[in-house]
Amino acid sequence: MKDFDCVVIGGGMVGAASALALAQLGLTVALVEQHQPQPFTKEQSFDLRVSAISLASQYLLEQLGAWTQVMQWRACPYKRLGVWEQEYAYTEFNADNISQAHLGHIAENRLLQLSLWQQIKLQSNIEVFCPEKLISLSQNSDQATLVLEHITLTAKLVIAADGANSQIRDLVNIGITSWDYQQSAMLVNVKTELSQQDITWQQYLPTGPVAFLPLSKNTVLQTTKPQETIDDVSSKDKVDTGGYASLVWYHQRDEIKRLAALSNQQLQQEILSVFPKRLGQIEVLDKGAFPLTRRHANTYQNKRVLLLGDAAHTINPMAGQGVNLGFKDVQALQTVISCAIGNGECWHNTVVLSRYERMRRKDNLLMQSTMDVLYHAFSHPSPLIKTLRNASLFAVSKVPGLNSVVKNKALAYACGV
Ligand SMILES: Cc1cc2nc3c(=O)[nH]c(=O)nc-3n(C[C@H](O)[C@H](O)[C@H](O)COP(=O)(O)OP(=O)(O)OC[C@H]3O[C@@H](n4cnc5c(N)ncnc54)[C@H](O)[C@@H]3O)c2cc1C
Repeated sequence: MKDFDCVVIGGGMVGAASALALAQLGLTVALVEQHQPQPFTKEQSFDLRVSAISLASQYLLEQLGAWTQVMQWRACPYKRLGVWEQEYAYTEFNADNISQAHLGHIAENRLLQLSLWQQIKLQSNIEVFCPEKLISLSQNSDQATLVLEHITLTAKLVIAADGANSQIRDLVNIGITSWDYQQSAMLVNVKTELSQQDITWQQYLPTGPVAFLPLSKNTVLQTTKPQETIDDVSSKDKVDTGGYASLVWYHQRDEIKRLAALSNQQLQQEILSVFPKRLGQIEVLDKGAFPLTRRHANTYQNKRVLLLGDAAHTINPMAGQGVNLGFKDVQALQTVISCAIGNGECWHNTVVLSRYERMRRKDNLLMQSTMDVLYHAFSHPSPLIKTLRNASLFAVSKVPGLNSVVKNKALAYACGV
């Protein structure tokens, strides 16, 4: 049996970040993860699971010492964000409008996790248990006891960062409110004829959005070069042109199931017939499908157990905010516990932990609801609503006053600055 101040269950991006954030406060932390993440080598192709990392998340990762390594491995900065349904209402957000060098980076989830783990290994007050699995959990007024497959741990606080289907959330009987979008997202990694781009874009189609997220083996911002086709470049250049991307295709579950069963060649043809022309020629490298569900835990805490990240909330990934909300949870938890320690309070009592929930619930709910409003507004078949939504995008894009008030405020909020 081993005793810790905190046990974090789940060593994904949010769990690993929370372990580091709590250790920075001088607490002893155990991190329990069931799967050992595969180490990184430069030769590896891009993972399918990538995230758009906001500026606010980047600052947190810098504070935790994990950002530099991600940048040294690979991450792709983007400076512009294009959104449209009808071409005439194309709206573009630019980092210059909020006085930033970029809006965010597209990074592979595993590299973010690995970089956080690298920092964790340097901390004498964090112990990692991996591969290890939770068997049972009991709580009393003094501590929580966690029986794992190979060892039993006790803690003052348990952090559930075990993802969307959180076992801990079920074990402590925290219910959820959920909403099934009846849609899936297909992620497709492609090589593009265009060199690496500094833009991420999304077009709303009646069946759901299609999106482009740039990927790069270099982490330097590059502006788009004149078009070259994949066939035009020599085989030596083919290796180095840096034109890669993650495409996201939202559609009804059955259609995504059909697309997922196609060969890469067949899928390529389907993509070219549906995605906008600005994509250019592509070559499909890898693909996978993920169901979309919105979930929100009815409470974030129950007797020494606190939910963070996807264990507390999942969101439509349309605006790439899921893990960014999880990182905001980590930041809020660190602030709340740090203040409590500073004020001489018992940092793990219910009153203190409730402050974390107060800080986060409204913000998470607001982002979930905003995504749902966008999702419904853009999937509504009524011609009147279609005209209205395009007119709104057009106005936001072209009317000077609205431009700075609405567009730049929305952009700053999405980037977390
Ligand atoms: C299609 C798609 C696209 C997305 N794109 C974006 C994006 O662009 N930007 C963005 O911010 N978000 C995005 N998201 C959301 C983002 O992927 C999630 O919010 C994020 O992965 C949540 O991180 P987490 O650490 O909370 O959970 P997870 O990543 O699910 O990690 C949970 C960890 O807990 C471990 N675990 C689970 N149970 C146990 C147990 N019993 N014992 C031990 N370990 C356990 C798991 O092995 C895993 O490592 C997207 C999601 C989807 C589906």
